[in-house]
Amino acid sequence: MTSIHSHNKAKALKPGSRRPAKELCSECGLCDTYYIHYVKEACAFLNQQIAELETIAHGKSRNLDDENDCYFGVHQEMIAAQKKAPIEGAQWTGIVSTIACEMLEKGLVEGVVCVQNTKEDRFQPMPVIARTSDEVLAAKVNKPTLSPNLSILEQIEQSNLKRLLVIGVGCQIQALRAVEKELGLEKLYVLGTPCVDNVTREGLQKFLETTSQSPDTVVHYEFMQDFRVHFKHEDGSIEKVPFFGLKTNKLKDVFAPSCMSCFDYVNSLADLVVGYMGAEFGWQWIMVRNDKGKEMLALVEDQIKTKPVISQGNRKQAVQQSIPAYDKGVTLPMWAAKLMGVVIERVGPKGLEYARFSIDSHFTRNYLYVKRHHPEKLENHVPDYAKKIVSQYQLPDQ
Ligand code: FAD
Ligand code: SF4
Repeated sequence: MTSIHSHNKAKALKPGSRRPAKELCSECGLCDTYYIHYVKEACAFLNQQIAELETIAHGKSRNLDDENDCYFGVHQEMIAAQKKAPIEGAQWTGIVSTIACEMLEKGLVEGVVCVQNTKEDRFQPMPVIARTSDEVLAAKVNKPTLSPNLSILEQIEQSNLKRLLVIGVGCQIQALRAVEKELGLEKLYVLGTPCVDNVTREGLQKFLETTSQSPDTVVHYEFMQDFRVHFKHEDGSIEKVPFFGLKTNKLKDVFAPSCMSCFDYVNSLADLVVGYMGAEFGWQWIMVRNDKGKEMLALVEDQIKTKPVISQGNRKQAVQQSIPAYDKGVTLPMWAAKLMGVVIERVGPKGLEYARFSIDSHFTRNYLYVKRHHPEKLENHVPDYAKKIVSQYQLPDQ
């Protein structure tokens, strides 16, 4: 077990806000702690090691010859689910918060790492270790900004916690897995969400102001499976903006460079993943990666309805066409964007095929980004599964 004293050397290395990944830093929080000592091995943007960490977390790495494994990572089971009694104000139906509450109440864990918001700003993330269900529920709903979740790592040792649940996105979980054995925990559970196109708080403001008609009243938003961004406003109204009508020329620099170079959309290293993009519209998508994930899902089985995941349509043409359109920052007139949204919703990819559409579109874009901005990183930073996915498409030369 690691003691606080064994980190003394690391403490000496903690120079305030040093970020070795520089502009690629996703502000995961590791470098705010004395665990910065491990940053060269642990940082998702300095040392891509997903296959090795999959083997440690799940007992095996993904099989690239199996399409579902290649796209979604190691898993035992995938289902679509909804809470029978949704949590008011959660991002979807609140399956993440419910699992976390059950784990605390049943005594499986003593604390839950999750993200509340500051009093002043509903979108400013504030990572905490929740000790009660009320504290977990205060963290419901996405804070759609880079969040320094791992900045609480020092508190784990200081408060002598031994059983912990961490909720987080891929880059946070990669760094967490890399330092897991240093944390002195008896048991660590990891509940992940997929994540893509995240932004700084300033970037979020620009996105809201560029895309929504009422940026100040947005309480949450999601890039939905019906090819529209749904903004929920304070008065409960929903504003829908078609993806194809987004002002991509203005938004091109909004997404954080870390997210433009990320290939862990599906949170490969979590025990259980809860998202939406592999499920039909209105449903959450659950992926059980290992036995710990199965144990976590079992806790809420009586509170959710489930159905099998489906896969319909063919994404390939739409992805290929979107590559040069995104690259050149083309924005369609709103009437054309709406029409295209309606057509593609009727005949376009659904269920797992929609998830593949989204993964393909982001991986091809991100591959080009790394190739152009960090060519020296391309070979090691892009995992083999992502290279295989990208190789299905023709990319512009430069
Ligand atoms: P809730 O019960 O509302 O709980 C939400 C949990 O998210 C809370 O526990 C909170 O601690 C945590 N959280 C909030 N903000 C952050 C943050 N910034 N970083 C880390 N953890 C956070 N799913 C997809 O299928 N496709 C996507 O493209 C996708 N993009 C996402 C992008 C971001 C930035 C985030 C945070 C999530 C994304 N998700 C995506 C997951 C999805 O939006 C829902 O979070 C998930 O389905 C859980 O819904 P819920 O109602 O069960 O969550
Ligand atoms: Fe440090 Fe995390 Fe930034 Fe990497 S992503 S430099 S580990 S804070």
